[in-house]
Amino acid sequence: MKNHTFVAEEQLLFRSSDRVAVLLPLPLAGAYDYRVADGMALQAGDFVEVPLAARTLTGVVWGPGSGGVAEAKLKAVRRRLDAPPLPAVSRRFVDWVAAYTVSAPGAVLRMTMPVPDALRPAAPAVGYVLGETPPATAPKATPARARVLALLADGRPRPAAEIAREAAVSAAVVRGLIAAGALVKCAVSAPEPPPAPDWRRPGLTLSEGQRTAAARLQSAIGAGFSVTLVDGAPGSGKTEVYFEAIARALAQPQADSAAGAQVLVLLPEIALGAQWLMRFAARFGAMPYVWHSEIGAAERKRTYRAVAEGRARVIVGARSALFLPYPNLALIVVDEEHEASFKQEDGVTYHARDMAVVRARLGQIPVVLVSATPSLETVVNVGSGRYGAVALPSRHAVAPPEIELVDLRRDVPPKGGFLAPTVRHRVAVTLQAGCQVLLFLNRRGYAPLTLCSACGHRLCCPHCTAWLVQHRLAGRLQCHHCGHAEPIPPACPVCGRADSLVACGPGVERLSDEVAALFPAARTVLATSDTLTGPGAAAALVTAIEAHAVDIIIGTQIIAKGYHFPLLTLVGVVDGDLGLAGGDLRAAERTFQLLSQVAGRAGRAERPGQVLLQTYMPEHPVMRALQASDRERFLAAEAASRRETLMPPFGRLAAVIVSSADEAALEAACRHLAQSAPHTADARVLGPAPAPLALLRGRHRRRFLVHTGITVRVARLMRDWLAAVRMPSSVRVQVDIDPMSFL
Ligand code: ADP
Ligand code: ZN
Repeated sequence: MKNHTFVAEEQLLFRSSDRVAVLLPLPLAGAYDYRVADGMALQAGDFVEVPLAARTLTGVVWGPGSGGVAEAKLKAVRRRLDAPPLPAVSRRFVDWVAAYTVSAPGAVLRMTMPVPDALRPAAPAVGYVLGETPPATAPKATPARARVLALLADGRPRPAAEIAREAAVSAAVVRGLIAAGALVKCAVSAPEPPPAPDWRRPGLTLSEGQRTAAARLQSAIGAGFSVTLVDGAPGSGKTEVYFEAIARALAQPQADSAAGAQVLVLLPEIALGAQWLMRFAARFGAMPYVWHSEIGAAERKRTYRAVAEGRARVIVGARSALFLPYPNLALIVVDEEHEASFKQEDGVTYHARDMAVVRARLGQIPVVLVSATPSLETVVNVGSGRYGAVALPSRHAVAPPEIELVDLRRDVPPKGGFLAPTVRHRVAVTLQAGCQVLLFLNRRGYAPLTLCSACGHRLCCPHCTAWLVQHRLAGRLQCHHCGHAEPIPPACPVCGRADSLVACGPGVERLSDEVAALFPAARTVLATSDTLTGPGAAAALVTAIEAHAVDIIIGTQIIAKGYHFPLLTLVGVVDGDLGLAGGDLRAAERTFQLLSQVAGRAGRAERPGQVLLQTYMPEHPVMRALQASDRERFLAAEAASRRETLMPPFGRLAAVIVSSADEAALEAACRHLAQSAPHTADARVLGPAPAPLALLRGRHRRRFLVHTGITVRVARLMRDWLAAVRMPSSVRVQVDIDPMSFL
């Protein structure tokens, strides 16, 4: 395979014996100085190998050296890697994200180079063709050998594994033929690159409203930085409309590259995106590149390289795709922008939607945010004119599904059950009419709590402040926070009474038992992250539902997103109050979004849908707004209450989680932090308080919450504060800017 050489068209910046700063993908305070070796020329962004202590590491030339290391101690750069340099915009993005999230720049850099392998040229592939003349010692002809010879008769070289697969023979057969000289080695050219999406293909004929919206998005392409919200009910055509923006972006000539413009689409729950991929392929005649945590190593390498070389034109991915080194990014789409899963909670904590806006600003390109239930942050930005917005009218003649509150205080489920009589009746009627039912319960497992009926002992996780969730299908108790699992004990571990443990509260497995007893003839399926494992499981479920091979779907939020099931006309929300408990700042907003989405599953085609929402608090503002399908009223009330308390987006929050296995060390560290905490007119530090999960994975946790005015530079404030306190190594400090989860 021919190696491309990415010698820069840009001017070479650093020459032999210059000092350069090299940023390493490690949580260090900054870049380290190195000397450019004799005969070497480097430019900013080049990937290089450098020595660090006894190791050789790959880093990125970040700029001129700082001079922090004495000349005599300065080590030389070992080697420049033959990979496209990290674009300037990516480097600025790394610095920006590190500063904003109070992280080490190297920790952010690691997210832009997640496949170190891809920075090195691939080993040339070896293949086999038929030998010139069959040797005298030709092996005896067998059907298997004959198939191999027939396959290779076309003269195309193939790797040994491919020959075995295509000719349906064992690897030993191929090896035997090679040993006998019947097959000979030759170089194989690189596999054909996949076809690029074709923006010339026509899209659907858009409705008037869709056309207007698409034109708005298209006019933003190539016109610098902008943020536009695409707002419309499920099924109103938001995806079709942003496909038009993608087509326009792909059609843009790129001044500085022959490769063409790139488009990034961020989606939550990428594993469930089979329907999205098929639609994309139908529209553009080719698959996009896909990026998320579950793709295999070879695929990651191929994709990373294609992105870095500008060959990947459309990339659809989970939040981590935002950090790939796009040389020609021209448009970012964030679909389901309100989704909480865009927030990365481990390591560098960032919100991919917010960082997408930052990336767009740094690259001077448009970003499109898409949602049927936009976040309050986005709504407020639209209101203030900072973001633009296009609204899509509902496409369907039928009104949005009717939402009916089922007051569980009056409509009481029979003992041992969780479905109110009204719901039971309506499920029966719906099944009778040949339609499908979704029963939504955002609780995995059989029961959220197991307690001893004799002594009252509750089974808790030994490592966390959390109840163990009973999973009967797996025969285990599980902690949903740390993953701890243990068998369900035959007797109470405290009082020793046998058969005294009782399951409390509903989980989807338990609900499924209730449904099986009530509707024995119905074909029921459980859709949770426990049952939908393995590649293709979600797609298979979607196909089964579409083919009406299923009558009742019992599912968690995994099923709430973006599917179109025309026969699904009844949604029962088993515990509408679940999200409202727990004192989270965004509890009401999330409950509203999730339940609106679930409600959107009902009757999206010609059949009107119905949603029954079981609740103990029908008078709660969230329930009222849902019932009235009145998003504006809900958002207005929510915004007013946040404005009054100066909560985001009208103020800023940052959390500091301090944790340690050693409780005494933790207490001391928290005392020191509290003593030096900044208190100004518009910044307060609350805490330390036990973090809501005070014990997590065996570590004790305390939380400080920093609450400031909207204009305060929180990151700076945090850095100064934390730098003033010396932490023992047993204590870990984690900063979470703009926290979304208060666990
Ligand atoms: P949303 O993203 O708002 O949920 P979609 O773009 O997914 O909506 O559209 C919902 C369904 O309606 C899809 O199957 C889509 O192909 C179809 N659809 C949308 N707009 C049109 C149109 N103008 N003509 C034909 N079908 C359309
Ligand atoms: Zn646990």
